[in-house]
Amino acid sequence: MSVPSLGPTVLLASGRLGRKVGINRSDRPVFIDSEGHICCEHGERAPTIQAWINLERAKDEGDVTNRPSVCDCQNLDGLLTRYDIDEAQWPKLTCPLFKQLGSLGAAEAKFNTRPQRFALTTHEGVELWVQPSGMLVCKHGNSKKTLNKLLQNTNDKAKFRSSRIVKCGCSSLAVPRRVGSVFAAAKSKLAPRLKA
Ligand SMILES: [Zn+2]
Ligand SMILES: [Zn+2]
Repeated sequence: MSVPSLGPTVLLASGRLGRKVGINRSDRPVFIDSEGHICCEHGERAPTIQAWINLERAKDEGDVTNRPSVCDCQNLDGLLTRYDIDEAQWPKLTCPLFKQLGSLGAAEAKFNTRPQRFALTTHEGVELWVQPSGMLVCKHGNSKKTLNKLLQNTNDKAKFRSSRIVKCGCSSLAVPRRVGSVFAAAKSKLAPRLKA
C-alpha cells in the first residue's frame, strides 16, 4: 500500500519512535517504527500483541492488565498491512536521547542543577525522564540508584537530611524492554554511560 505522507516522529508508549502511516478500521492510528515494523498506537508490534491475545484467550478471561505494556489492543487491525516505505523515512534516533526529546517537544523540568525531559509514563504509572547525560530519572530527578537508597533508608531519614534530593515514593524506573526502543538505542550507541 502506498502512503501519501507520514506523520511527524513521536515517542510511543513502548519507547519506540513512530511515524503515523495510517488509520485502521477501528479508527486508531498505526505507526512505522525505527526498524520498519508496523506498530499499534502504543508502539507494540503484531507478534507481541498476538502473543498476549493468545495468552489471555488461554486463560479465558481476556485480562489485559498483566501485559507489561499500556497496550490493550484486542486485534491486529492495520498491523499486518504491507507498506512500501523507504528506510530513509523511518523515524530514527539521530542524536542523544535528551536532545531528541527536546526536538519532539517533550516537557522539561529542573531539579537541583540538571534539566530533565519527559520521555513516557510506563504501564506501572511511573514517569520516565531523561537528563542530558542520558541518565534516566523519575519526575523528581532521582536516579534508580537514589530511589533504591531511599527505599532502603525509609527508617533512616537522617542520611538524606542535608541533601537536596526530593524524598519521593517512586518505586522503580523499569524501562519498557523493547527491541528498537530509544532506550535500547541510547544504551548501545548514543549514551554509553547510561545505566538504566
Ligand atoms: Zn496497542
Ligand atoms: Zn520520584
